[in-house]
Amino acid sequence: MTTNASLQERKEKVIATGQGNLAPVYIERAENAEMWDVEGNRYIDFAAGIAVNNTGHTHPKVVAAVKDQLDKFSHTCVMVTPYEQSVALAEKLVAAAPGDSDKKAIFVTTGAEAVENCVKIARSHTGRPGVIAFNGGFHGRTNLTMGLTGKVVPYKASFGPFPAGIFHAPYPNEYHGVSIEDSLKALNMLFTCDIEPSQVAAIIIEPVQGEGGFYPAPVEFLQQLRAICDQHGIMLICDEIQTGFARTGKMFATEYAGIEPDLMTMAKGIAGGFPLAAVVGKAEVMDSAPAGGLGGTYAGAPMACAASLAVLEIIEEEKLADRALAIGEQMVSRLNGLKEEYPQVIGTVRNLGAMIAMELVQNGDSEQPNPELTKALVAEASKRGLILLSCGIRSNVIRFLPALTISDEVLNEGIDILAGLMADL
Ligand code: PLP
Repeated sequence: MTTNASLQERKEKVIATGQGNLAPVYIERAENAEMWDVEGNRYIDFAAGIAVNNTGHTHPKVVAAVKDQLDKFSHTCVMVTPYEQSVALAEKLVAAAPGDSDKKAIFVTTGAEAVENCVKIARSHTGRPGVIAFNGGFHGRTNLTMGLTGKVVPYKASFGPFPAGIFHAPYPNEYHGVSIEDSLKALNMLFTCDIEPSQVAAIIIEPVQGEGGFYPAPVEFLQQLRAICDQHGIMLICDEIQTGFARTGKMFATEYAGIEPDLMTMAKGIAGGFPLAAVVGKAEVMDSAPAGGLGGTYAGAPMACAASLAVLEIIEEEKLADRALAIGEQMVSRLNGLKEEYPQVIGTVRNLGAMIAMELVQNGDSEQPNPELTKALVAEASKRGLILLSCGIRSNVIRFLPALTISDEVLNEGIDILAGLMADL
């Protein structure tokens, strides 16, 4: 009989350690915010494939769109003989992106590639080498995006050297005592000591740090960055890979700051699980790269585009941005209830829409992170039918990313499992 344990044993023989899995849970089928493993066990999914399944698993509209596309053709390569779906999707993404400028898009396959392409476009447009990213940020696992990533373990440890021309500034973070002024001062120091602004092609920022611990950037800081970039002709890149597609209560989190980035990345929630990512940016910036310089064999693949068009329709029809706000409110209120019950172990609870975080601490002190408990809680939750994820520069944050289509009933059931776990600690 196929069991989770037998599959894990087979996996460990043939899949390298670097691609480790959180829980030995092998999924056989999934529907909306629920999954069932090969042994028939049911799970409530608070991870959504790391913010991918914003429209839930196997949404009938996505399934129908992909099946329909598969009946027509599965692949031709958008850079050889394109197809209407990719144009239709680019039209929708360009219209959905924040700001009034004329925009254009390109497609790639993963988030990291989208980030790499932003840097390529920014360098091509400005003719400058430098890129500034933020401490605690995460931008991917390719060599360049690892270089941009500020979080060292496990993403960068042992993988260097990284490309030259990358600098890091502190991300303003009230929880870690870094004010907006501190960040701006450090950015100025970078300009004075390390790289002149006239040599900087781009500043890249996550509007909410994801892997770093779910810290929203203060809107005033994003506005100030926009002004600094305008002053020096630097491209502002907003990495919306984890925050995009209604997750934070807006289509894109950058909208909270009312600014328009020069370039932005999109991936994860864009296509309900199909490998698709995009760069959307100001048309004159996007057109700086020479023909053939951007893309890839599977860039904007037909089934991914079909899935994405369906996802965009669902987000609008089911008002998922509003739903993200409601989910956030409901979860934060219940998590704060748990914090009152367990003040010694639960630290800060914070969110932006349905990007929700709960810190685990020792002795009720937010300066004493508890990564061991965080790891244990995630592992134990999976045994009780709840899929959780951790994150954070101190590895002590439980992050909640439920499908935005989750019902109140399943959402509460998931939190009940968590409450039961806390009670048994
Ligand atoms: N940027 C951000 C903000 C992310 O959260 C991620 C993935 O977690 C990436 C980039 C990399 O995306 P991918 O894993 O699709 O390469």
